[in-house]
Amino acid sequence: MSSPPVIAIIGRPNVGKSTLFNRLTGKRSALVSDMPGLTRDRREEEADLAGNLVTIVDTAGLEQAKRGSIAERMRQQSEAALAAADLVLFVIDAREGITSDDKSFSKLARASGRPIVLVANKSEGRAGEEGFYAAYELGFGEPVAISAEHGEGLSDLVGEMLAALGLKYVRPGEDAEEPPATARPIRVAIVGRPNAGKSTLVNAILGEERMITGPEPGLTRDSVPSDLEWLGRKVRLFDTAGLRRKAKITEAAEKLSASDAIRAIRFAEVVVLLIDAERPFEHQDLTIGDLVTEEGRALVIAVNKWDLVEDKQKTLKELRETLGERLSQVPGVTLVPLSALSGRGVDKLAKAVLDAYDSWNRRVPTPSLNRWLEEALARHSPPAVSGRRIKLRYITQPSTRPPTFVAFCSRPEDLPKSYIRYLTNSLREAFDLPGVPLRLNLRKGE
Ligand code: GDP
Ligand code: GDP
Repeated sequence: MSSPPVIAIIGRPNVGKSTLFNRLTGKRSALVSDMPGLTRDRREEEADLAGNLVTIVDTAGLEQAKRGSIAERMRQQSEAALAAADLVLFVIDAREGITSDDKSFSKLARASGRPIVLVANKSEGRAGEEGFYAAYELGFGEPVAISAEHGEGLSDLVGEMLAALGLKYVRPGEDAEEPPATARPIRVAIVGRPNAGKSTLVNAILGEERMITGPEPGLTRDSVPSDLEWLGRKVRLFDTAGLRRKAKITEAAEKLSASDAIRAIRFAEVVVLLIDAERPFEHQDLTIGDLVTEEGRALVIAVNKWDLVEDKQKTLKELRETLGERLSQVPGVTLVPLSALSGRGVDKLAKAVLDAYDSWNRRVPTPSLNRWLEEALARHSPPAVSGRRIKLRYITQPSTRPPTFVAFCSRPEDLPKSYIRYLTNSLREAFDLPGVPLRLNLRKGE
């Protein structure tokens, strides 16, 4: 299965990126606050583009999240989004015309080499005319005039987006479930503590020293992803190793490597958490592991420096036990022992990543789910709370990436957590979904 095309919305603050994101995804709010202290905004949503499944990424809201100069902050956010994008919506405010910030963003967008659709937002009424014409000077061709707020011009915009992505208009109901046929690369990030061996591993995977070049001077080489093929499938590898080295000069290495990891996790579909076999599961490793599951990404754990481990059998057993206790949200996550230095075991990583990706995308047919539910209920019936037995009637899987299930329950608020855990683990086993964060939501229904 291929992943849907990624569309990044880029532009300076206040041009209407979030408003457009909400329009395209049908979401009321682009901001979901579920990770206090770490990340506050989720800016990636799947959307239906005239019957085509796409992923839309909003870069708004990040401005406030980072320290550093405006230019630096803009650059970092936009670069990461651009690197992962198949199409860029470059948004300007037609009422304001073209500002110097618009120009510096446009340089970044151009340097990414991605296809760009220029969007002149706030074009309702006539106040946007001048800005519309001024936008030609950005060199992205004819702007598409829209009003995100008033919902004007959106069908033209969708038409332009489909054309740029080489997709067709699919009428609702006509095969709208199937993602587009073009094989998109699977986005994989390698994250881990400093010195875990990330650079060594990336070099081992690419089989050569990386070229130290960016699309334009001033862009760090690290933001340039590597495209490769694993077992016949396209993979886009994001590596967070180099950024840390550059940052060491200015900031505490540990701290920065965590924020790199957060960025990488958000743009990845599968995250490889690289740990050091000699210092396994330190605090930072577990934090990253938690973050990956919170963000709903697929996870593979690679245990590096396996050449230094003496009793390999025993160590593996211990690692599995620790994982079961400390990262209990994703039981059965795949462990791949390897040596980045010698290259041993690196080939096993490819298969583990692709398997995790497939589990993450798996859709279980509703009849199978309901057969499973019946058996699971028979094995352990739901408890009685306040003298009345809680009933579960029906389950379905509305979405994938990660697999998300909804079960209908007579009293969802009363069902004990332990019982939900039992169901989740049983689901995971029955449908072979190791290492992916599962979501099981309960809805009220008799
Ligand atoms: P962002 O910072 O680029 O994400 O911009 P927002 O989506 O937060 O929008 C910035 C401001 O512009 C908000 O006050 C919006 O209500 C307003 N806005 C967004 N789209 C339009 C539009 O089409 N027309 C007008 N007049 N205002 C808009
Ligand atoms: P990064 O900070 O995560 O990018 O880590 P590096 O790739 O720079 O590696 C940190 C150190 O670990 C270097 O001295 C590497 O040579 C060493 N290293 C990396 N992989 C292995 C391995 O598989 N075995 C051994 N023995 N050392 C390794």
